[in-house]
Amino acid sequence: KAKEAGKGTYVMYGQAMQQHFDERMIIEKHLRNVISNNELSLHYQPLVDIASGEIWGFEALIRWYSPVLGFVSPLSFIKIAEDSRLIVPIGEWVLRSACRFIKTLQVQGLEGYHISVNISVVQLMLDNFTEMVMGVLQETGLSPEFLELEITESIFIESFEVIVNKLKALRQQGIGVALDDFGTGYSSLSYLQQLPITTLKIDKSFIDGIDSPHNMSLARSIMTIGHDMGLKVTAEGVETPEQLAFLQRTSCDKIQGYYISRPIPENEVAGWVADRKAG
Ligand code: C2E
Ligand code: MG
Ligand code: MG
Ligand code: MG
Repeated sequence: KAKEAGKGTYVMYGQAMQQHFDERMIIEKHLRNVISNNELSLHYQPLVDIASGEIWGFEALIRWYSPVLGFVSPLSFIKIAEDSRLIVPIGEWVLRSACRFIKTLQVQGLEGYHISVNISVVQLMLDNFTEMVMGVLQETGLSPEFLELEITESIFIESFEVIVNKLKALRQQGIGVALDDFGTGYSSLSYLQQLPITTLKIDKSFIDGIDSPHNMSLARSIMTIGHDMGLKVTAEGVETPEQLAFLQRTSCDKIQGYYISRPIPENEVAGWVADRKAG
């Protein structure tokens, strides 16, 4: 029928859909063995306390090198991992590897650094999520106060109460919770108030072009809301000294971004810390 009507656009649309679907299937297929094939690694991006200039810790960011597909960005595979639930073993691998790494730094004398780990809402919905996290801490010997979990506003479309209760339990153990990419999702202020979080991470989109008066006042408002709620505020995606100066004036607590450092491969982190302390 579409052919008869000469609906070339229909056919092209169909092909694009099919291509998109095939690509997802291929990624999912290769994702299934990433752990056993040792294809995953973590990079660590520093977070710096603005007032003191000290390194607060690092965010663990997943990297996937597939011998078949090459480097695949988390922006293209995390969603597929969530939809296929492969994010459950992958997310646990990330948490365990990141905790083990930061504990190793501590043993080497690089003490006091926190580790921030991105957690998918799919993981948060698991019955045994809290136990899994506590188990990993016990196994790696990392104290809970050095761990921060990054969640996103996507939790607001899931069973909010169930997730809040789990986060409360984790907070009681001393684990920090940050709301990532804040401002891009579904938060309403009344829900935000019920979340047992410690930190708001302002999304990069608000930090970009902070030189425009509009963006500047938005970023300032987010910081005011965060501080009024008793939270710490982190700015992500800080790339320029002008952005840093603005964030200092507005008493933002922590910054993360290329201006400080790009995400660093695990084996280069200790060297980066030494260089920063020396310089
Ligand atoms: P995110 O958690 O908001 O992480 C910050 C992203 O911004 C990272 O991208 C980081 O490399 C990038 N970034 C940091 N500073 C700058 C900057 O100054 N300029 C620019 N242009 N970019 C900057 P990445 O590593 O590609 O990760 C993308 C997203 O994938 C993450 O966003 C997070 O949502 C997700 N992700 C990464 N690792 C994991 C993981 O282990 N588990 C889960 N569930 N999601 C992850
Ligand atoms: Mg994050
Ligand atoms: Mg973020
Ligand atoms: Mg982000």
